[in-house]
Amino acid sequence: MNSKTPTTIAGLPTARGYASGPVFIYRGGGQIPIPEYVIGPGQETSELMRLHRAVGDVRRDLEGLISVLKERSGKEDVRVFECHLMLLEDPTLNREASSHITEGRVNAESAVRRTIDGARAQFARMNDAYFRERVRDIDDVERRLLKALTGYDRNPAAELKVPSIIVADDLTPSETVQLPRDLVLGFATNGGSTTSHVALLARALALPAVCGLGDVTSRVEPGEFVLLDGTNGAITVNPDEAMRREFEALVSRQRAIAAEVATGGLPAGTLKDGGEVLVYANVHPGIPLAAVTEYGARGIGLYRSEYLWLDRETEPSEDEQFEAYKRAVIYAGKIREGASACIRALDIGGDKLVRGISSKEANPFLGNRSIRYLLSHRDVMRRQLRAIMRASAFGKVKLMYPMVSCIEEIRECAKMLESVKRDLSAEDIPYGKDVRVGVMIEVPSAALNADAFAREVDFFSIGTNDLVQYTMAADRGNDAVAHLYQPFNPAILRLIKETVAAAKRHGIQVSVCGESAADPIVGVYWASLGVDVLSMSSTYIPVIAKVLASLTRHDLDEYAQVPESMPPGSTAQEIFNACQAWMIARLPGLQDVFL
Ligand code: PEP
Ligand code: MG
Repeated sequence: MNSKTPTTIAGLPTARGYASGPVFIYRGGGQIPIPEYVIGPGQETSELMRLHRAVGDVRRDLEGLISVLKERSGKEDVRVFECHLMLLEDPTLNREASSHITEGRVNAESAVRRTIDGARAQFARMNDAYFRERVRDIDDVERRLLKALTGYDRNPAAELKVPSIIVADDLTPSETVQLPRDLVLGFATNGGSTTSHVALLARALALPAVCGLGDVTSRVEPGEFVLLDGTNGAITVNPDEAMRREFEALVSRQRAIAAEVATGGLPAGTLKDGGEVLVYANVHPGIPLAAVTEYGARGIGLYRSEYLWLDRETEPSEDEQFEAYKRAVIYAGKIREGASACIRALDIGGDKLVRGISSKEANPFLGNRSIRYLLSHRDVMRRQLRAIMRASAFGKVKLMYPMVSCIEEIRECAKMLESVKRDLSAEDIPYGKDVRVGVMIEVPSAALNADAFAREVDFFSIGTNDLVQYTMAADRGNDAVAHLYQPFNPAILRLIKETVAAAKRHGIQVSVCGESAADPIVGVYWASLGVDVLSMSSTYIPVIAKVLASLTRHDLDEYAQVPESMPPGSTAQEIFNACQAWMIARLPGLQDVFL
């Protein structure tokens, strides 16, 4: 494409807001760039030493990783890294690499690449599928060796030096958390969707993001100036003057809306008639807790503990976890008297894969993830529960289990928690005696089992990000099926109504902590069904708070009837449109917020 022609590319509005700046193309994975040259006379010894030092470094890394995994992970994972260790120490490969240096007279990086290229070709030619698969292991060992030799930063964002718009194919949660925050103006990705983890992170950091842009990485050049519109879901490359002016106008309009929605000092979630729907914040380790109070949250409704795991390869120690949870708990206590921090147990798996911990599965979204992972790694679970319980001595804690699908899991968790409490008491370690224990409702079986679950837990938190994904069988991170990702699909409405009704029958609290809670049309509908708490990324709180402050409970009851009055067979879009029309008619002054 002509780099001077202004071009607008449409995608999915993923995180509200606007940003402009130069493009930084983030390329994850791929080959590590290495210097390759012929060495001068007498340089063999130093190159051989560099090679041996790199092999030693990688050996130590792998041995460390294996011993951690042995303690708490599946045998399969350990075997993979033991196999990497064997490849690393293979005498033939080592001899070959040394001879590339001494006889081929090339530098150590080049010797590694040549040796590995040869082995790769050999394995790829094999008939046996198992051995062909080993090519991946060879790639992995090569990456480790080249990183050790070149000091190549494992983070492809190392070149990011000026504040930029990050353009990527897609970003995993761990890649996203490793980006230097002060240099990120916003995100634009080929893939991803509005509930992918890059979306959640962008919202948590109050950065605009547009996902589902198709092939944006090949349509922009590094350093090109772009306008990123996260509110409407578009990116404009090489904008002309008129476009820049129009963009500035959009930015001012957004500021005006933000000023308009300031809640006038009322606690977020107060209704016009004084009733309330609590509005809480979703947070995770690594984002500044100050945003929670800045945007008016009244508590922490979801603390995604897994972010402690995401930018590393080993489990954070019990003490490290304790310190992080304690910070959140103390922070929540300062928001207001009695405010709690709802700490969710480790939710890894699916798209939140942790290097060195998550094992390879054919279908990770349906695999050994979240509570299933914890229940099959009891020592990891025990350490986390201990850390959470220890933090509960410092304020009000709610403990929540993710991805529960059957009642046996709830009972197993309860047994485990009791045993952790017994241990802590025996060790004279203080913990809170009133920790409430709840489950996330994020798979259809949990919603359908809600009545039974409600007898055994203190609260529900509905995770619509996953509930919609699993009910509609539509990957929350795949823009090709984004049209099926429908929070207002009648099936979802039934599951949520059933869950709320079960909670009410048993007198337990029910919240929604999926991102749909932040949508002024959808979140307010959940509130109208009787949901007690809406929990969302902090930056989305003021808008919801303003809408709630403009409605009475009677209005909410009327709003709850809008989907009910739709003819059978209505589509999700039709239900949404009817709700939107009701809102605009009822609150014309806030029209901008509902469009
Ligand atoms: C959810 O699924 O709605 C949820 C809040 O959990 P996460 O987005 O972390 O999967
Ligand atoms: Mg979830």
